[in-house]
Amino acid sequence: MSEMKVPFLDLITPHAEMAEELLAVYKQAMGTAGFIGGPMVQKFEEEFASFCDSKYCVGVGSGTDALRFALMAAGIKRRNVVITVPNTFIATTEAISQAGAMIDFVDIDDRTCNMDVSKLRSYLETKCFVDKDLGILVNIKTLCPVTAIVPVHLYGQTADMDPILELAEKYKLMVIEDACQAHGAEYFSKRENRWQKAGSIGHAAAFSFYPGKNLGACGEAGAVTTNDESLARTIRMIRDHGQSQKYYYDMEGYNGRLDAIQAGFLSVKLRRLSGWNEQRRQNAKRYGELLSGIEGLTAPFEPSWSKSVYHLYVVRTKTRDELQSFLTKNNIFTGLHYPVPLHLQKAYLNLGYRQGDFPVTETAAAEILSLPMFPGLTEMQLERVAEGIREFFHLP
Ligand SMILES: *Cc1c(COP(=O)(O)O)cnc(C)c1O
Repeated sequence: MSEMKVPFLDLITPHAEMAEELLAVYKQAMGTAGFIGGPMVQKFEEEFASFCDSKYCVGVGSGTDALRFALMAAGIKRRNVVITVPNTFIATTEAISQAGAMIDFVDIDDRTCNMDVSKLRSYLETKCFVDKDLGILVNIKTLCPVTAIVPVHLYGQTADMDPILELAEKYKLMVIEDACQAHGAEYFSKRENRWQKAGSIGHAAAFSFYPGKNLGACGEAGAVTTNDESLARTIRMIRDHGQSQKYYYDMEGYNGRLDAIQAGFLSVKLRRLSGWNEQRRQNAKRYGELLSGIEGLTAPFEPSWSKSVYHLYVVRTKTRDELQSFLTKNNIFTGLHYPVPLHLQKAYLNLGYRQGDFPVTETAAAEILSLPMFPGLTEMQLERVAEGIREFFHLP
């Protein structure tokens, strides 16, 4: 095989290409010493809200902050139950716990690896009851009110939001999208009869601008988008110590603001995001062609209602570990998202889950492999990855 190295991700080339524009942001920040908040943050917030077809955007310190603040602003309290999936990054559940609530999981769909709506429905119908007097949904086992759902748009593809929103309306639940991997992803809503952008579908949505995300800062950053003015206002307070005006505090909040310099960098990059996402979609299409017909290897599934932005390109195979080490030996670098489901992590032993509780997630965790995926991936690199995989499966 050839000697070509295929990295999992290339963050150096794009920054070299944007160096002048990024330096101009740096100079502007140094020239004004406006490091926190200010016009650069406001400008980015307006641009990103518009990118997401959402009314408001509040820049915060990270995607984790975004999730936590959105849940808090949505009124999620201590001893509330918030439902999400076990196949996600731990930030999703950290935010739930840190908002004071309790985590409960429903399993994922085998093909999309996102929330399985039938599992959500059966959770709501069989593990909860409606308290007629209070008009709220209550978990049968813990007697705690169930107040929110956090669907995760994993790998760059939205969860199936129509039925999730229908159930949420029926049971009066808040819906906070974890859109940390889905900047620009689209969902065709039958209810609305139109394509909707991730971040504009639920009551609020959390985005991460961690450097490796489809839109990444040059450091830590995140944002909440929402169409709800009062949610946006509360999140603005929470990110700034609960301040309504300087040194007047309506509540305790956090130090969770977005740096001006990161906002400036993000504005530069946001102009390129649609192009980058299109390149990712092209790469995915090309992988699909190159990897078709390999028995024992399943390509990612994109339902007709979804336009994924392929934050990750995740294939599945029963011989995952062997394939991954074979590719690594051949200088093709891959990732696992995620190797151990959250319900089986040491951090969540206290939740009392066991192996077998979420079988679809558990099987996926053993079979998934994230192939190299980034906008600048070349045809030669794509072919090289496919060649490596075909060689592993003893195919010509
Ligand atoms: C990256 C990520 C987060 C957290 O974002 P940070 O900016 O790293 O705090 C949350 N959820 C998911 C699904 C993510 O991929």
